[in-house]
Amino acid sequence: MFCMKCGSECVEFMDGEILRQKCPNCGYIHYKNPYPCIAVLIVNSKGEIALGKRHKDSIYPGKWCLPCGYIEYGENYMEAAVREVEEEAGIHVVMDGIINVVSNHFDNGVHSLVVVLLAHYDGDEKLHPSDDIVEAGWFSIEDMSALPPLAFSADKFIISKYKSWRDHPSGITKLTLEGAYVEGV
Ligand SMILES: [Zn+2]
Repeated sequence: MFCMKCGSECVEFMDGEILRQKCPNCGYIHYKNPYPCIAVLIVNSKGEIALGKRHKDSIYPGKWCLPCGYIEYGENYMEAAVREVEEEAGIHVVMDGIINVVSNHFDNGVHSLVVVLLAHYDGDEKLHPSDDIVEAGWFSIEDMSALPPLAFSADKFIISKYKSWRDHPSGITKLTLEGAYVEGV
């Protein structure tokens, strides 16, 4: 890789146990960190959840996932969640709380940290998929094996955790959202 400060070619070095890239010209060290993402488990008035089918050009094409995506610079995680749901499902939802945080390692080398939000939707608008989702629908979670093929094992984990929480409410903590944005220095 090339230095993002001066454009010189970087060299590898061991920083303790971690292999990093460093610029021999200006000394800049490239720290590689997981990408911050959100995923949203949306539940409708029938207790069904929203899933989207992934575009053929995306990673895991044709498989299904919860609405999800990267948090843009300057956005808080709630804004990112509302935006991604609008982009991928075409509806506006109300966020209820954080139900999980998961670390993902994908086959394409992406490592993400995902804040998983629970949301509800009481409207009757049809889902309008767009962006990198080609089809979207509501699915019962009474029988997990009847769900369409899921792209991410994390989604399966999240859905089954939600289901056990819904059926036995003491089993999981739902965090409230007061801390979505903390301003200051
Ligand atoms: Zn440099």
